[in-house]
Amino acid sequence: MKLTRISALALFLCAAASAKEPVITKETRDNAEYMFIDGIKVHEEDPAKQPQPEIVAPKPYDAGATKAPEGATVLFDGSEATLENWTAMNGEPTKWKLVDAAMESVRGAGYIRTKKEFGSCRLHIEFATPAKPEGSGQGRGNSGVFIMGQYEVQVLDSYENTTYPDGQCGALYGRKKPLVNASRPPGEWQTYDITFTHPIFDEAGKITRKARFTVIHNGILIHDDVELSGGTGWAGPHAATEYVKHPDKGPIAFQDHGNPVRFRNIWIQEIAN
Ligand code: MG
Repeated sequence: MKLTRISALALFLCAAASAKEPVITKETRDNAEYMFIDGIKVHEEDPAKQPQPEIVAPKPYDAGATKAPEGATVLFDGSEATLENWTAMNGEPTKWKLVDAAMESVRGAGYIRTKKEFGSCRLHIEFATPAKPEGSGQGRGNSGVFIMGQYEVQVLDSYENTTYPDGQCGALYGRKKPLVNASRPPGEWQTYDITFTHPIFDEAGKITRKARFTVIHNGILIHDDVELSGGTGWAGPHAATEYVKHPDKGPIAFQDHGNPVRFRNIWIQEIAN
């Protein structure tokens, strides 16, 4: 009985500790600024300091569950007509290609973004990294889902391809590694179901409510209502960025990182908060 009570207390303390705000520190080494989250360097590659997420089996693809629910806005359904919902970041027509009812990134074409803008939302997307994997680490099947045009849920071929855990498939880039690695092999369709709460800033530009993410990858929970500690931009060797004030709505964008990654079946539901 005593042991049970102690275990319960330990569990409670662990839960309380994990709910705490992450401690962000910075250090300058060799003229580069390095950021640490709870003492772990951003983009830490040493598994002794930042263990790789456990590899788990993804859930089978469920065509019924991935259909756009009634009332959802379909952003892309494989048709030429819905590709018209998207543009290049500068508003010009996108150079991404329509291939086999999917939109495929084209090296050098730049990011693709929705014409419409969104704040808090539930977003479903499907992606496939190239069937013939090329490159390694961050160079293999790299793209990304940018909510509000800037908060990145990483897209990467993380099937038998290791990289720093906070940059692998499903990572909130540079901020939080996924709970587990639920990746499918290259070329296979994978799903993200993202629930996002937008950040809020005061008049002076100070953050008053941080962004939150719940992410389900191939049916497996990989982020459970995680508070994003700051921006997810790549800003130097190991320095993540801070929050910078922006409007309450922004586009959904996908990254052109030079690899022909495909996307399909994209729909969104706006959430009022
Ligand atoms: Mg990326």
